[in-house]
Amino acid sequence: MDLSLTPGQETVRDAARQYAADVLAPKAVQLDVEGGFPLDNIRAAAKAGMTAINVEAALGGRAAGTIAYSLAVTEMARVCAGTTVALCVNNMVAEVVAHFGDEAQRASHVPRLADGRHVVGAFALSEPGAGSDPGAMRTRAIKTDRGWVINGEKLWITSGTDAGLFIVWAKTNDSPGPRGISTFLVPGDTPGLSRGKPEHKMGLHGSTTTALQFTDCEVPHSALLGVEGKGFGVAMMALDGGRIGIASQALGIGLAAVDTAVQWVRDNVAAAQEQAVLWALADSATELDAARLLTLRAAGLKERGASFSQEASHAKVYATERAWKACNRVLDVMGEAGLDRAAGVERNLRDVRVTMIYEGTSEVQRIVISRNIMRRFGGS
Ligand SMILES: Cc1cc2nc3c(=O)[nH]c(=O)nc-3n(C[C@H](O)[C@H](O)[C@H](O)COP(=O)(O)OP(=O)(O)OC[C@H]3O[C@@H](n4cnc5c(N)ncnc54)[C@H](O)[C@@H]3O)c2cc1C
Repeated sequence: MDLSLTPGQETVRDAARQYAADVLAPKAVQLDVEGGFPLDNIRAAAKAGMTAINVEAALGGRAAGTIAYSLAVTEMARVCAGTTVALCVNNMVAEVVAHFGDEAQRASHVPRLADGRHVVGAFALSEPGAGSDPGAMRTRAIKTDRGWVINGEKLWITSGTDAGLFIVWAKTNDSPGPRGISTFLVPGDTPGLSRGKPEHKMGLHGSTTTALQFTDCEVPHSALLGVEGKGFGVAMMALDGGRIGIASQALGIGLAAVDTAVQWVRDNVAAAQEQAVLWALADSATELDAARLLTLRAAGLKERGASFSQEASHAKVYATERAWKACNRVLDVMGEAGLDRAAGVERNLRDVRVTMIYEGTSEVQRIVISRNIMRRFGGS
């Protein structure tokens, strides 16, 4: 098994590292303190080729593949996890439109998601009472002669404050559960779409999260993405891929915390002689390396067009939980020095927590994994 990277993958990783050092690093602490949508970072990301990494070149993407995407996300999340989640969602939206869109939708939206004319894309699935279970959604789209009229509410939508394009899921018939859900492309300036105020979150202050209200929000027939009534499949396929991004993001945050601890221990002669300290770092280094391998395996499968849903869940649940543990361990090792905002570790800890929640909680990943292994061994 060859674990080496191709020159193309190294180029994208190095470009992400450079972008993170030049653009993200100088503002990461300020963005965490002040909060808000990272517009300048996003504009610079479009120039650095970080907005549509796994999208074909004809549509303005970088056509670099899922492994390169994962490597880039890890590098960016090491420095500013807030900006990185906005970029992850934009990359996911661009991939979804490129994959499911008709020629007009692809030509109209994907280049604008790649070059920043849409500012960023947003993914509007979750609702009050319909987070882990999208089949419980209450947003409705009614077909008319002119198009579709959407009514309902979405919650916790990353980049909802500024996005120029939303992928929106709504029920289009009364079939129970996940059946009868359809997917729509809704430009941010569509009348009837209103955006709430940014939520006050524990972490990821460098990204905004808002509620959306759809009140008789009318879109043309051409806004339907994919097949009417088959939107649940679109969402699940998007989330499978998105989980590789979130695993990569968590990995980056965990690595940042461990890097800080290693530097701190090297500067502290007493700590460097404590076996308990060194073993704590060794355990996290081992776990994050395992997380990296699981994530790259899922990315490699997706890139080859193989089935990767279970592997993406393995990567997400393991990388996010181990990264959270790594940040906690680093705080144990560094003591009060780790709690100092300047060290960055308390930000890492706040930022990493949500990776165990969005794009499917850890419990949801365990459901996906257990269903797959039961099916494989002949269970229901
Ligand atoms: C910062 C942030 C950004 C987000 N960005 C987006 C976005 O861009 N787009 C979007 O659509 N959504 C977004 N979300 C929403 C996110 O995807 C949901 O929060 C997540 O899916 C969980 O849903 P919930 O919060 O409604 O929790 P619930 O589904 O109510 O779950 C509550 C608890 O119950 C557990 N649980 C639920 N069902 C089961 C079950 N069957 N078995 C075992 N345990 C179960 C869960 O694991 C969890 O621990 C974001 C959330 C956050 C916090």
